[in-house]
Amino acid sequence: MKIRLSLIAFALAAASFAAPAQDKVLNLYSARHYQTDEALYANFTQQTGIRINRIEGKEEELMERIRNEGANSPADVFITVDAARLAKADELGLFAPVKSKVLETRIPAHLRTATWFAFSTRARVIIYNRSALRAEQVQTYESLADPQLKGKLCSRSGAHPYNLSLVSSLIAHDGEAQTEAWARGVVANFARAPKGGDTDQIKAVAAGECGVAVSNTYYLARLVRSDKIDDRRMMERVGIVWPNQATTGTHINISGGGMVKTSKNQEAAVRFLEYLASDEAQRYFADGNNEWPVVDGVVTNNPALTALGKFKADPLPIGMLAKNMVAAQMVLDRAGFR
Ligand code: FE
Repeated sequence: MKIRLSLIAFALAAASFAAPAQDKVLNLYSARHYQTDEALYANFTQQTGIRINRIEGKEEELMERIRNEGANSPADVFITVDAARLAKADELGLFAPVKSKVLETRIPAHLRTATWFAFSTRARVIIYNRSALRAEQVQTYESLADPQLKGKLCSRSGAHPYNLSLVSSLIAHDGEAQTEAWARGVVANFARAPKGGDTDQIKAVAAGECGVAVSNTYYLARLVRSDKIDDRRMMERVGIVWPNQATTGTHINISGGGMVKTSKNQEAAVRFLEYLASDEAQRYFADGNNEWPVVDGVVTNNPALTALGKFKADPLPIGMLAKNMVAAQMVLDRAGFR
């Protein structure tokens, strides 16, 4: 009996040693929902032999899930979009610090923290209806509160992370009191109650339902390079302004991720994060999803993205956006920007 048990124990031990080598799997919790990411992951598996087991969900659900799973969480890497959400995940203690020479050399300092990293950037720009307004009227985020835009402004919800991050950057630059006054001005200018996503705002601007709105750049590039002629025609009615070029620069946000604290597979997790900063992966972000690479000098092949041109980006470190996130939410609540 004793011999048999130890034989079984030996067999089990042998199996558990053998298993990882035969079937290397990385559990990726992803709140990115872009079709083009498929190729990005397939390429990683091809290069490393590490299969990616993707668990997709909404940002908040995935964060909650990792938290509930606790020490037993199978999650190795969590990726999502927007600094506001990554900061929240960090605040919940979901990430482990990552020390990687590759990440440190390839990703600029203002686009990473000790625990999470940006892998692509997008800008939040002002869009306007060409027949309703002139570009000169909407050169800055601050101008969106100008009374001359009364009844002309459309927006998605103030509580959405894209807007929270933008307001967070305004607090960093203009202070809380000035930003609250701005938010009140913005609310006073609404053409309609906030609703829909960025693409809905673009459509409403093109249709003339609103004169002005803000949008992330990849939605604009997506419509410009659309197969549908109607989308491309629609974009001819929409003007794009790089906000705050004479002052703080245009607010940029990121997609990014980090290693989950309880990862049982840390080597593969770091390897995956480093892969996302490789030239190849960086090109997928640009050519597939119309986002800018974070790594300098990566050659992309996306005419719609190139056509957007160059601009001065706000150099505020993304970690700083996190600092003002709660203040941003309170400012918007007090101003009635829901
Ligand atoms: Fe988006």
